[in-house]
Amino acid sequence: MHELAITENIVAISLNKAKEAQAKKVSSVNLIIGELSGFAPECIQLYFDALSRNTIAQGATLNFESAPVRLRCRNCTAVFQPQVNEWTCPECHSPGAEIIAGRELYIKSLEVE
Ligand SMILES: [Zn+2]
Repeated sequence: MHELAITENIVAISLNKAKEAQAKKVSSVNLIIGELSGFAPECIQLYFDALSRNTIAQGATLNFESAPVRLRCRNCTAVFQPQVNEWTCPECHSPGAEIIAGRELYIKSLEVE
């Protein structure tokens, strides 16, 4: 149920930014979601709808843009995008790489009125 906590953040940040911009309404929130984040977009939308009720973000649409996984080889520090179930470094062929992208979830931009 970690979607609830992250959605609380998304709502709070959206409302803050909208206030800063002196907006009357948040119409959409554009999010970047990493392929390894494990977050379910439909779950986040549900929580968002509930948490934003009676705020200026009520009824806002969430748009999710998927961010690919990127790994860094622990041996030669090459950065690469893994194939499915194949996390071997393409440069030095050593196994075991560190995840440097793909677990994130953040707000890319907001549209307000
Ligand atoms: Zn390597």
